[in-house]
Amino acid sequence: MRSVPSCGICSFASRSYSGGEEIFREKPLLHVPFHWPFTPKQLSHTQAVLSALSPHDQAVFHNSANAYPASTHSAVAGIFHTNSFEMPGARPGSGECCGIFPQIARLNHSCEPNTRQEYDPASGEEVLYASRAIELGEELFDSYCDLEKGVQERRRHLKKYYKFDCECVRCVREGGKLKKRGGGGGVSKKQKEKAEKKKGRGVEKKKGRGGGGEDERDAEVEERMINLKTC
Ligand SMILES: [Zn+2]
Repeated sequence: MRSVPSCGICSFASRSYSGGEEIFREKPLLHVPFHWPFTPKQLSHTQAVLSALSPHDQAVFHNSANAYPASTHSAVAGIFHTNSFEMPGARPGSGECCGIFPQIARLNHSCEPNTRQEYDPASGEEVLYASRAIELGEELFDSYCDLEKGVQERRRHLKKYYKFDCECVRCVREGGKLKKRGGGGGVSKKQKEKAEKKKGRGVEKKKGRGGGGEDERDAEVEERMINLKTC
C-alpha cells in the first residue's frame, strides 16, 4: 500500500495472483454486535469499545476514511459507517455483527473490481480474494455499489452516498466520461473525502460492508443518522 498523487492511498499487488486466489486476510481492529446505522445507544457502545483499544489502534481507527461530515455526524459513527464490513457467522445464532478491517477498507472503488472480500467465521478474519487474474503492480479495487445495476444507477448511488462522480473504466465504457480528471481506473477515498467536505452528508454504505445499506433502507438510515447528529 502506498500513497500516489493521483489517488491518495492506493493498494497495489505485490505479486501476480490468479482468479480466486487469496491475497490478504485481516483480523478486525474492532467489532460490534450490530450493523449500522447505529442507534444512539449502539453508538455509545461502539465508543466504549473504541476507548478500550490501545492508543495505536485508536489512531488507526481515526485515520480511516470518513465520508460523513463532522458538522452533522460524530467521527466514530462516520468512520464506522464508511469502513465497516458485515461479519456473517461471527455470532452464530445471536444476530448481526460488523467490524473495521483497516487494510482491506482502504481499497479504492471500481465498478469493475479485481477483488472481492469475505468474512471467515472460522478464523475471525476478513479475507480478500482476487476476483480475476491480477498482475504484479496492478492496483487493487473493491466495489462500493451493486454491480448488477446499470451505469446510471451506479453513478447515482455513488454520487448520492459517496459524493463522487464515478469514472472507473466500466462507467466510462458504458456511460462515457463525466468530466476531466486525472488518475487511474477507480476513485479514491481521498477524492471522496474532498468532495464530502464541500457537499452534503452521505448516508449510504457499500454492499457487503456493515449493514449493506441498499436503497430501500434510505428512510431508516436518514432517520437514524439525523438522530446521531447530537452524539
Ligand atoms: Zn464506476
